[in-house]
Amino acid sequence: MSKNKALVKRHGAAKIVLERNQHPVSRKSFSRQALTVLEGLRKAGYQAYLVGGCIRDMLTGKSPKDFDVSTNATPEQVRRVFQNSRIIGRRFKIVHVVFGREIIEVTTFRSGSEISRPGIRVSDNAGMLVRDNVYGKSLEEDAERRDFTINAIYYNIKNYQLIDFHGGLYDLQHGIIDIIGDPEKRYLEDPVRIIRALRFAAKLGFKISRRTAAPIKALAENLRQVSNARMYEEVNKLFLSGHGLQSYRILRNYRIFEILFPGIDEYYDNSVFNSFVEFALKSSDERYAENKRNMPHFLYAIILWFAFQKEVFELQQINESLVDSMSLRDILEVAFAKVMARQNPMTAIPLSISESIRSMWTLQFMLTDKNQEHTAAIAGRTLFRGGFDIFRIRARFEPYLRQFVDFWQPFYDESSAQARDRAQKQELFEQTRTLGKRDKKVVIKEVFGDDDAREKNDRLAKARAWRAAMHLDP
Ligand code: ATP
Ligand code: MG
Repeated sequence: MSKNKALVKRHGAAKIVLERNQHPVSRKSFSRQALTVLEGLRKAGYQAYLVGGCIRDMLTGKSPKDFDVSTNATPEQVRRVFQNSRIIGRRFKIVHVVFGREIIEVTTFRSGSEISRPGIRVSDNAGMLVRDNVYGKSLEEDAERRDFTINAIYYNIKNYQLIDFHGGLYDLQHGIIDIIGDPEKRYLEDPVRIIRALRFAAKLGFKISRRTAAPIKALAENLRQVSNARMYEEVNKLFLSGHGLQSYRILRNYRIFEILFPGIDEYYDNSVFNSFVEFALKSSDERYAENKRNMPHFLYAIILWFAFQKEVFELQQINESLVDSMSLRDILEVAFAKVMARQNPMTAIPLSISESIRSMWTLQFMLTDKNQEHTAAIAGRTLFRGGFDIFRIRARFEPYLRQFVDFWQPFYDESSAQARDRAQKQELFEQTRTLGKRDKKVVIKEVFGDDDAREKNDRLAKARAWRAAMHLDP
């Protein structure tokens, strides 16, 4: 393998093939759906490979979370093989084969060649690929346009071989993130690769190779040209899937955190800011390890809290000198709008998420109120628990808040118990989906008591819609 890596370094690529008895990737660890897609393509006479994160995960002993398939069939041909598929065109056309909640992403071999043909491969002035639909003819070409060597290892469904052109197996063994091709050119084509390099380093605990790291600082500004919708997704991947704390540290190291969150470097000297963010990210990572979901609204509410608070204080100061003074509500409104206006050009925060951030921030100002007349209303507010979670983290750093934590804790516990109960009922209800009508009625009656089942159905439908809007389901 070291020899192969040396060849890669000299020639840019060198093929290495592992037979089925030389590697641990086994069909047994593929999802049924992934296998269906691979076999379907093979039977239709096409080549089909697994590639990317799933192979990387299986080789490092993790269970893969999604399966990416690469084929020589064009998107239209793939579409014809699977009725349950649709072509989607983002940066390039890919096919989603849909099995209920699980989606298998199928991409056609793409060419790594950088020849610019009008209407086919379009770069803007800065060299960033805007449209990119050149299909390559071979696996080798496909490998060349992938981002990192560890993401370009292929599993061939026909003969169970692993194929590696860029020393990915070596890098995986040695814990190295190495970009394929000329680093500067690859980052200019797609600046998101900068973020991806840091993300994989954080996630896998790998080192970024020197040549891969070298141009990052100089080119990081190009991240501002990436669509804010795509950046929103990338930021979620950085922080919500179990390696948030490590992502934060690496991003700060490369001075990219302040690009993702404009204006945030103002708080870098504030040790409380750093401890607060680190503590919250660490708890999120722990939640993830316990199979609990992490929410984008919580993430943004934490990271931007200091900025929001500052806007509020400034407005309060101005307010004191005004004759027509603003209410606290108005102040929070204006501060919220300002913070969002600064953040949105970088990451497009969906409305449902920003509304949740607003609710949790508003709660920060309500939770210092112990007036008995207000407690029920406050504890009943949407996201009371989320808001309290943030409040409790703040209290670690602002001792004055602890009395209020003690005051609200019982309300929080009560609300959690209710939520658990609801979740349990919902889960039971979900299980009735496969039952016949009559059995369903019996179960619903048992779970929900004698209440009208239809009303329960409506409530659950609403709950499901809400969950979908909040991206609570994978
Ligand atoms: P994970 O799914 O764990 O986040 P992944 O490597 O599977 O990691 P995906 O975004 O699912 O990431 O992409 C699948 C594969 O597509 C990658 O492994 C890589 O080979 C290729 N790829 C994805 N994004 C890029 C990119 N910006 N530039 C080049 N290749 C990419
Ligand atoms: Mg993937």
